Amino acid sequence: MTDTLRYRSLNATLRQRFGEKVYKLALDGGFTCPTRDGTLDTRGCIFCAGGSGAFTVPVGKDVHTAIEQAKTLVADKGGKKYIAYYQSYTGTYAPLERLHALYTQTLSHPDVVVLSIGTRPDCLPEEVVALLGELNAVKPVWVELGLQTVHEATARTIRRGYPLAAFDDAVRRLHEAGIEVIVHMILGLPGETPEMMAETARYIGQSGAEGIKFQLLHVLEGTDLAEDYRKGRFSVLTLEEYIRVLERCVEAIPADMVIHRLTGDGAKRELIAPLWSADKKQVLNAIHRAFERDGVIQGKHWNEVSAGSE
Ligand code: SF4
Repeated sequence: MTDTLRYRSLNATLRQRFGEKVYKLALDGGFTCPTRDGTLDTRGCIFCAGGSGAFTVPVGKDVHTAIEQAKTLVADKGGKKYIAYYQSYTGTYAPLERLHALYTQTLSHPDVVVLSIGTRPDCLPEEVVALLGELNAVKPVWVELGLQTVHEATARTIRRGYPLAAFDDAVRRLHEAGIEVIVHMILGLPGETPEMMAETARYIGQSGAEGIKFQLLHVLEGTDLAEDYRKGRFSVLTLEEYIRVLERCVEAIPADMVIHRLTGDGAKRELIAPLWSADKKQVLNAIHRAFERDGVIQGKHWNEVSAGSE
């Protein structure tokens, strides 16, 4: 059985939807976030080394020039269709006029087929959701929510800064506006057991979100997490532990949920642990081999889960 039959990958889904390979452009819209600018905190989330923007292209006034620059960074220079992904910090945390100008210009680029915006559930006021709904009528708009965990104690530890109810509310409102939602979760957060991580995956499955991104917890230089790690306050997952818990999560979500990522894209220069994660290709190969070995099928336990929740 091939990987695409074992789980619903983003690549395969994009090929079906757009008829060819679609590439992702990682862009930085110059945002900040409420856990950094002093609104909620100044320290950021405990694991964050700067808004997941290590490989992003900064977008200034000339949006199309930045898009052209980002296109030169993707592996296949002959690509014709792209997802413009605003990855850094909180992509809806700015005045409405600025968001309108930035995202309208982005979607007007002829090669951009999807606009994807990384943000937080507590940074989606009604007028922003309405704007995204209008833009979604032009080309598909996706919103990527950094949930990380459904466990409130962990959320406090990592300084996420919003309750789970804010996530539920955001998913509902985005769906009412016709927008597809992708949810990020982190495997290996301090104090979490495999069962807790599987609970987060199940919850995301039940939220109705269209997509999920699994990320391994990276300990990065310059973060408070790195300090805790050096003091021995928690340990990171081994590759085999990561694979085991990932398998549980993949089997706990619905079969039609698109898996955008099976592991993280760490900034190698800043990576302190786990060092095995630096070789992404090798990690993905190990995951695929294990899925084959263990007969993993996405959604295998989804029916038990959804029946149990009624
Ligand atoms: S993870 Fe996101 S919300 Fe948290 S500090 Fe980093 S950019 Fe801000």
